[in-house]
Amino acid sequence: AAQMYYDDAADLAIIQGKKVAVIGYGSQGHAHALSLRDSGVDVRIGLAEGSKSRAKVEEEGLRVLTPAEATAEADVIMILVPDHIQRDLYTAEIAPNLEAGNALFFAHGFSVRYGFVKAPEGVDVAMVAPKGPGHLVRRQFEAGRGVPCLVAVEEDASGQAWDLALSWAKGIGGTRAGAIRTTFTEETETDLFGEQTVLCGGMEELVKGGFETLVEAGYQPEIAYFECLHEVKLIVDLMYEGGLSKMNWSISDNAEYGGYTRGPRLITDQTRQEMRKILGEIQDGSYAKELMEEFDAGKPTFTKRREAEQNEQIETVGAELRPLMSWLKA
Ligand code: NDP
Ligand code: MG
Ligand code: MG
Repeated sequence: AAQMYYDDAADLAIIQGKKVAVIGYGSQGHAHALSLRDSGVDVRIGLAEGSKSRAKVEEEGLRVLTPAEATAEADVIMILVPDHIQRDLYTAEIAPNLEAGNALFFAHGFSVRYGFVKAPEGVDVAMVAPKGPGHLVRRQFEAGRGVPCLVAVEEDASGQAWDLALSWAKGIGGTRAGAIRTTFTEETETDLFGEQTVLCGGMEELVKGGFETLVEAGYQPEIAYFECLHEVKLIVDLMYEGGLSKMNWSISDNAEYGGYTRGPRLITDQTRQEMRKILGEIQDGSYAKELMEEFDAGKPTFTKRREAEQNEQIETVGAELRPLMSWLKA
């Protein structure tokens, strides 16, 4: 079984004795920074001079410096800017200001796993990765609870990197819920695989395939939207609460039988074969290389796909239907 750590395995005093820099103040950045501050930690934020996030930081009364200045001041530096930005920001502003005895922290292993960030000798490299979006992480902390998180140590130069990582996890409420021990490699590869095949890539194509099949066969797009997109949430909520068995217990026997007999005709050996291929591209680094090249080139494919999606019928129909659901506030 996975190794778990709770509050009693973590000493908050360790992180309270460090100068902390949080680089970036977006989804994860604001959650880590504010909860650490509330846990009695000395936190400063690193943001570019013209950054849009600066005003929000100042509203909270936190100090904001450039990423270079924040790194130079701090003992523990957590990088919470988007993954594809980390390589260049690290090279330009963070690496020159690191010294032996510092610790470099991440909330996702991507940059370290694929060698885009290489810490110098004598620097600890660790991860505290909440398994939820930053706004949930912050809200749970404020409510006296926490979001489970993954912890990993890639470089333990000080011999104290695990205690430091667990102390950070405690400071953001993670060990209230439970911290699970993993490695940078496992976290990165499973995270990418999950989003590509199931959560984002797989789900989106499944929803679109169902919607388009019904519309092509002459059914009303509004009905197809409800059936193939809107109701996904009802099913996912049941799985989230009680696994596949709660979902199958809650739906009708008719739906359950239809699912058991038709689902395997869609997700076939061929689909699983493709999943293995996608996993291979994650493991051998070719996906990471492709992503960085795409962003280096000004993200042509990304932008084209994002624009095309806005014009798809499922999107235009959905935009007309969602105002009917008063509980869905923008
Ligand atoms: P965000 O996209 O929310 O980060 C945005 C922040 O980064 C803003 O403060 C932005 O500043 C700043 N930023 C963007 N570009 C630069 C730059 N070139 N130089 C300096 N600052 C910059 O990131 P997330 O919080 O989503 O992700 C951060 C890390 O956390 C990633 O490693 C991600 O994989 C991981 N993670 C994210 C989760 C999530 O739910 N979002 C969940 C678990 C892990 P500005 O205001 O100027 O744009
Ligand atoms: Mg991810
Ligand atoms: Mg139905």
